[in-house]
Amino acid sequence: MSDSTTVGDRSGVNRCGTDAGYHRHRRHGETPCLACRGAHSTATRNRRRAARVADIGRMVNVPAQILTRLYLNSTVDTQEATEEVLGTDFMAELVDEFDRRTA
Ligand SMILES: [Zn+2]
Repeated sequence: MSDSTTVGDRSGVNRCGTDAGYHRHRRHGETPCLACRGAHSTATRNRRRAARVADIGRMVNVPAQILTRLYLNSTVDTQEATEEVLGTDFMAELVDEFDRRTA
């Protein structure tokens, strides 16, 4: 039985649907399956986000209401930088909540 017909190995370390599974496919010259491509893309996104956060340096806790107010009153460049780190969906969620509270 070849690896291409096996869903992961017996140890479960390189099983399909994981980043390790994606790299197993690549090592064996295979086209990664959909589950592995999804896991790889999520892992890559998370690594990039972690790298961006590491570049920024020290983290602080800020009340969501204050962060949102600062975000809404900042330049477009600063808003985009904020979205890059915290995510567009997350910032949209904060703005919606801010709008509901201040309506
Ligand atoms: Zn796979």
